[in-house]
Amino acid sequence: MKVIIHRGTKEIGGSCVELIADNSRILIDLGMPLVDSKKQPFDSKSIAGKSIDELKTEKTLPDVKGLYKDEEPQIDAILISHSHLDHYGLLDFANDKIPVYISRGAKELVDATNIFLNKNVQLSNTHIIKHLSPFHIKDFKITPYLVDHSAFDAFAFFIEADNKKVFYSGDFRGHGRKGVLLKKMIKNPPVNIDCLLMEGSMLGRNEMVYKDETEVEARIVEILKEQNNITFLFSSSQNIDRLVSAYRACLQTDTTFVIDIYTAFILQKLGEVSKKIPQFDWKNIRVKFFNYHAEKLAGVGHKELLYIYNRRKIDMDELNEKKNKVLMLARDNSIFPQIIRNINSPEEAKIIYSMWEGYLTDKFKNFCRDKKIEIEQVHTSGHAVLNDLQRFAKALSPKCLVPIHTFEAARYSDFFENVKQMNDAEPFTI
Ligand SMILES: [Zn+2]
Repeated sequence: MKVIIHRGTKEIGGSCVELIADNSRILIDLGMPLVDSKKQPFDSKSIAGKSIDELKTEKTLPDVKGLYKDEEPQIDAILISHSHLDHYGLLDFANDKIPVYISRGAKELVDATNIFLNKNVQLSNTHIIKHLSPFHIKDFKITPYLVDHSAFDAFAFFIEADNKKVFYSGDFRGHGRKGVLLKKMIKNPPVNIDCLLMEGSMLGRNEMVYKDETEVEARIVEILKEQNNITFLFSSSQNIDRLVSAYRACLQTDTTFVIDIYTAFILQKLGEVSKKIPQFDWKNIRVKFFNYHAEKLAGVGHKELLYIYNRRKIDMDELNEKKNKVLMLARDNSIFPQIIRNINSPEEAKIIYSMWEGYLTDKFKNFCRDKKIEIEQVHTSGHAVLNDLQRFAKALSPKCLVPIHTFEAARYSDFFENVKQMNDAEPFTI
């Protein structure tokens, strides 16, 4: 079997791996880059209006023959590990005759991203993957492994062909709400792995203050107990583990958790996948309407949902009345200053900043300082810490371990055995 990592050998984001067996070719992930060639944040808007050829020349699109809309398909399938844009964001350029294998939860999140976040990745030709349910694509046998990650319903792939075995870790961790999945995999790993492609996002990042999702929840509880003005939770609406932590903290402190229409929609869609996911009409949950979200939902023919969510609507007056006992989901966007304007005396409001600290801008910090709003970071990473990466690599004991989804590939051999560092687009045979 031949492996080509088109992107990801030395960077986080834009993952794309090609596997070639005797008679077949498959692709794993087709992600939007997070950084450009100068390691500066990648501007996804720069893609607009460019042709496939132009995007290939500037290396935004990996050079994969028979993948794109402007040619006859020669790729037998695309596997998507999870619903983060740096793993699927370029999928819209792929020829839609190529089947896409994706989890139900990831598909729902891609659809929700299209509706609310102005993306356009249409998934038409899809097959739903399930934990430990193997499937075949020509010469390949693929077994998906559900993993713990900040994206809901994320998967790793165990791939067999030509008597060789490859394991693609995708993005994973052991300290989220599904940490038991890593424990199980370490206890009962797939064996005789010839090649492990393993992410290392956390290598080179600071150690985490909050070691796991339970510690995050505990700190949110403490904050809500102490608070005597409105508290905001800055989190991605797609980080379901975090929303669950926040909701559990609200139940323990009899706080109202205020979500928006976008979040209510996501929870409802994923509620069809897992019954444990909090819903807009559960105890202590209310929905704040913003025109922007309402228009988006109505625009795709889901006006009926607005009537349904309306049953749990909270308006500004009620929000002000209850504000000492409110945790409101928000983000650094144009809506947030509007909310602050409408809160009576917002001083000493608090933001629980529950995202990667790299997203926190000076502009936003200054805004909060001016308004006397305190920001406290309460977060745990979506990615495995070094110790978990080491336990995972040891359990799988691959004949070769190839770094992917990391800025620290050169340091892998300090921490792991049998490391083989590759370059983007460089083929290697297993
Ligand atoms: Zn991810």
